[in-house]
Amino acid sequence: MTALLVAENVSKRFSPRITLGDRIAGALGAKVDRRAVHAVSEVSLGVPQGRTLGLVGESGCGKSTLGRMLAGILPPSEGRVTLRGEAPMQGRHKVTTRIQTVFQDPYASLNPRLRIGETIAEGPVAHGLVTREGAPAMVAEWLARVGLDPAFATRFPHQFSGGQRQRVAIARALAMQPDVLVCDEPVASLDVSIQAQILNLFLDLRQALGLTCLFISHDLSVVRHVSDRVAIMYLGRIVESGEAARVYAAPRHPYTQGLLASVPKLVLDSNTGLDFRPIAGELPSPLSPPPGCAFHPRCPRATEVCRVERPPLTPREDGTLVACHHA
Ligand code: SF4
Repeated sequence: MTALLVAENVSKRFSPRITLGDRIAGALGAKVDRRAVHAVSEVSLGVPQGRTLGLVGESGCGKSTLGRMLAGILPPSEGRVTLRGEAPMQGRHKVTTRIQTVFQDPYASLNPRLRIGETIAEGPVAHGLVTREGAPAMVAEWLARVGLDPAFATRFPHQFSGGQRQRVAIARALAMQPDVLVCDEPVASLDVSIQAQILNLFLDLRQALGLTCLFISHDLSVVRHVSDRVAIMYLGRIVESGEAARVYAAPRHPYTQGLLASVPKLVLDSNTGLDFRPIAGELPSPLSPPPGCAFHPRCPRATEVCRVERPPLTPREDGTLVACHHA
């Protein structure tokens, strides 16, 4: 299947800024860390048309940075991102309109001084997708599609609950008629019952509109619910990817296996009282990634080769891609 949005060998490094605090610390003789952060390293992946790719990993693994590069918000340090074969970046600080993003915190992403009708209409009017005269009807239609009363168009963001604000953010993104929707932890800040409502809305809209989506989350259960394909990320690299049903049914990489075993189950183990096994240790700092396989300090199957040689992401017979010497 042809991928609509493609990342080819994409990396992102953040060079340290010299802050006033650094200058003061330096003047006082303290050592200041000036190493660059390798947030994303040599990632290649594609989001096929009409499908949803789930990008999963722990906080700090680089998935949001990768999502921002794919959305055209952040330029890669190396490699390239293409949408239908073209670079979506129109300039260092310009964001393409063909890729829209729904962020984790809907309150922070909505202008508190704009009525939400204006928030939804301003992009489509500015880009000629609708006339000023046609904007009220368009806003009413999108509010209804995301399950809100069209009369809410005159309200301000602070007059909505968190779930309602996320519905507004989805309406604003989809009113731009994007080729690709990037959802970056869209339900992470919501209560569990509201999460389910927003996920079901997302699924309904995806089916009705044939959306192509990148869905980023630290929550495996959430990603399982919405994704056709998944990519598992660890310390800036993809360690396993493939059809979601296959990866969830038979995870091959020890990190994917650990993530799945870390999800608390409703049925408890009769011996321990627990039926989940959290992955040992913590995500290492991207300032000093471990040599070899970056997961080796936490991996129960690590051997000597894992400590010195980084395993490449290689295709397996079941169609998945896995980066592990022993899987
Ligand atoms: S390469 Fe080695 S350390 Fe890395 S995941 Fe595989 S078994 Fe574990």
